[in-house]
Amino acid sequence: AAKDAGRDQFHLHTLALDEAVQAESEMRVMLQQALNDDRLILHYQPIVSSTGNIMGVEALIRLQHPEQGLLPPAAFFSALDHPRLARPIGRFVLETALRQGEAWRREGLVLRISVNISARHLLDARFLDDLREILANHPDISQNQLEIEVTESAPLIDMAGAQVLLGACHRMGVRVALDDFGTGNASLTYLQQLHPQSIKIDQSFVRDMINDPKDLAIVAAVITASRMLGLDVIAEGVETAEHAALLTKMGCSHLQGYYFSKPLPPEAIHAWSTRLRPILQVGDVSTFMAI
Ligand code: C2E
Ligand code: MG
Ligand code: MG
Ligand code: MG
Repeated sequence: AAKDAGRDQFHLHTLALDEAVQAESEMRVMLQQALNDDRLILHYQPIVSSTGNIMGVEALIRLQHPEQGLLPPAAFFSALDHPRLARPIGRFVLETALRQGEAWRREGLVLRISVNISARHLLDARFLDDLREILANHPDISQNQLEIEVTESAPLIDMAGAQVLLGACHRMGVRVALDDFGTGNASLTYLQQLHPQSIKIDQSFVRDMINDPKDLAIVAAVITASRMLGLDVIAEGVETAEHAALLTKMGCSHLQGYYFSKPLPPEAIHAWSTRLRPILQVGDVSTFMAI
């Protein structure tokens, strides 16, 4: 009987595996089709400085599904790093975001543009050429207006390779941000070896800092380290006035989250950026000060 149970378990296990493989390949097909059919779009989430002014935006990909509507990256996450898709998607996102940055600039709005780059595209031998080519196509965007976000949660198997690549980006003038900081196994190694210009504190720490002194201590330590190193520090997942006030009080230079704005379609950014300043100056900034 034990043997039968074992066999059943094995059978169940392979079934679950089959399903996972199936789901992955469905995601890949869905993403590939969306790319072919021009159904990928970018939304942009404002990043504000501690005075409440818009400093830049993060480009976030969405998939327009014929039946299911607009899908977030969670619906196709693993496919973003697929060997055949990571590079075309990365090129699409860079190209689209820089073109949008130029359009804003023509309207008088100069924003830093942050773009998420998958580890696979970053480590692709053609990545630097892609970056150079796309920047050259958008001469109205200065190199240091672009920031590439490299996530810590997907382990960079090739640290030495990443170091060389990000060093080359830096020499080109392109900024590097460590995304989801604190969620990887080697945050301090990343910080030490990859020489980023920005650190993005993962939203899990921001969410929990209110109730958990350990998370608060980590947030405070990351802010202090960033200041000592002369880096921008961006808190992600700022959802409440309390979050914003506490982070500002601790000296966090930049904030991003639903409290300020959800990711928006590009045409909504200009109006948002001109509307924000008075609202914050009247209410929230003085609230920050009072704490
Ligand atoms: P991320 O780079 O850490 O982006 C931040 C995510 O947090 C976004 O989710 C954003 O919508 C969400 N967010 C922002 N503020 C708040 C808040 O106050 N509360 C909460 N709960 N969430 C907030 P989104 O757009 O679903 O993207 C998820 C992840 O997908 C991103 O995490 C990034 O890792 C990846 N991703 C997004 N766009 C791209 C892309 O163009 N290329 C690649 N390779 N990955 C991307
Ligand atoms: Mg990001
Ligand atoms: Mg993040
Ligand atoms: Mg994240």
